[in-house]
Amino acid sequence: MNYPTQPKASHFINGAYVEDTSGTPIKVIYPATGAVIATVHAATPAIVEQVITSARAAQRAWAALPGTERGRILRRAADMMRARNHDLSVLETHDTGKPYQETSVADAASGADALEYFGGLAATLTGEHIQLGEDWAYTRREALGLCVGIGAWNYPTQIACWKGAPALACGNAMIFKPSETTPLCALKVAEILHEAGLPAGLYNVVQGMGEVGGALVSDPRVDKVSLTGSVPTGRKVYAAAAEGIKHVTMELGGKSPLLIFDDADLENAVSGAILGNFYSSGQVCSNGTRVFVHKGIKEAFLTRLSERLEQAVIGDPMDPATSFGPMVSERQMEIVQSYITKGIEEGARLVTGGARLDRGGFFLQPTVFADVTDDMTIAREEIFGPVMAVLDFDSEDEVMARANATEFGLAAGVFTSDLTRAHRVAAGFEAGTCFINSYNDAPVEVPFGGAKLSGVGRENAKQAIEHYSQLKSVYVRMGDLEAPF
Ligand code: NDP
Repeated sequence: MNYPTQPKASHFINGAYVEDTSGTPIKVIYPATGAVIATVHAATPAIVEQVITSARAAQRAWAALPGTERGRILRRAADMMRARNHDLSVLETHDTGKPYQETSVADAASGADALEYFGGLAATLTGEHIQLGEDWAYTRREALGLCVGIGAWNYPTQIACWKGAPALACGNAMIFKPSETTPLCALKVAEILHEAGLPAGLYNVVQGMGEVGGALVSDPRVDKVSLTGSVPTGRKVYAAAAEGIKHVTMELGGKSPLLIFDDADLENAVSGAILGNFYSSGQVCSNGTRVFVHKGIKEAFLTRLSERLEQAVIGDPMDPATSFGPMVSERQMEIVQSYITKGIEEGARLVTGGARLDRGGFFLQPTVFADVTDDMTIAREEIFGPVMAVLDFDSEDEVMARANATEFGLAAGVFTSDLTRAHRVAAGFEAGTCFINSYNDAPVEVPFGGAKLSGVGRENAKQAIEHYSQLKSVYVRMGDLEAPF
């Protein structure tokens, strides 16, 4: 490590590191070894009060700045993140266990993209003029006020930036609570934003478990909540936000379908299935974990997939050659193991993998089940690990009905060389993000989010601005005003 994993203090509030050791200790564990690499403390009620008070106090002056000035700070932070990509990637690898081969291209890099993109948009935020005969009205696009971001553990740097960048661009203050499993990376995002010139109080990080998130969400001084997490947590957070009629963005779980037709380029289809199931050891919300393969090419697909999986390099995540790392935690590993057991018990055919690796840390083999049927647990529930379920299909109509027969709607993909079928299938998917002959791209320029239980609202792209700002309408009368008496 170029710098120690133990942060200077647990929280970042009002432009500085803050500690309160009376909060419950949270041990940070390196998933590749099981070693404790840092300890932070959950926020106490006093910390929650301090962060809300200082964030609210800072927000109005920030919103009053020209967008160009807000944007300049975000773009400077983006440059700093890119310049520090190596150190940030090493930290992300220690926080999550994801291989450096991934983190060095996907995490701080994606965060920097968000800061740069929304930094650029900040100066473009305007209202409009509406002529009404001689009278007229105009709209002002205004900040919401104080936003709370709550993150999952799979992309701690990216999530901290995807929520922080649009919030700050629109003139809001942000309090971010990382997952207790990965508390380290968001602190670095806060540090960099402040070094880039962000005034104190506007981007804060507080640690804690669900109850800290709950305290933030239910505070009447908070105007908006953006959660990345599971559907059960989403239900709780959405309900708490509803009490205060707060704005929400919910980025929740999925069980996304990936359709492979018999006219697809097989090698590309196998690549898509690998990217959509085994990147980040399968801990990606939009993963295409129900892989529907046309009966005619099923065995050829499974053969090539197994050959390609043998090329996975599993091991020390800091070795640049490693392409497959551990599960984020022992608990997550056990959850995934229980799904593998269920898959076997319910009669799915284990094609490859299925076992824990005989080494320290929380390593599981990339696992593929074939002959999976729609009613099996592994085809219905989000596993959030490296477990692919391969199902067969005969016709487009049949597979579309089955692909959409889920309560989730985060993502979906199709591999085919038939142009019209590709677009017909994409139009028919009940999902927020779809891929044609690709899987899991997430550029900041494109809206990202879910349909059905997978979420509400969109992150990224111009659409995120709608979710971090509100319109005020101002009516202007030019002549005399008539009244009935
Ligand atoms: P969880 O839902 O368990 O937790 C998400 C966050 O919410 C954590 O910071 C958690 O804190 C916090 N939290 C838990 N309970 C409450 C509460 N009552 N009030 C406020 N906050 C609370 O998700 P995981 O961290 O396990 O992440 C995995 C899930 O996230 C998967 O379902 C995955 O699909 C989803 N996800 C969705 C993405 C998307 O963009 N749609 C992207 C990435 C992941 P703590 O961890 O400390 O308990």
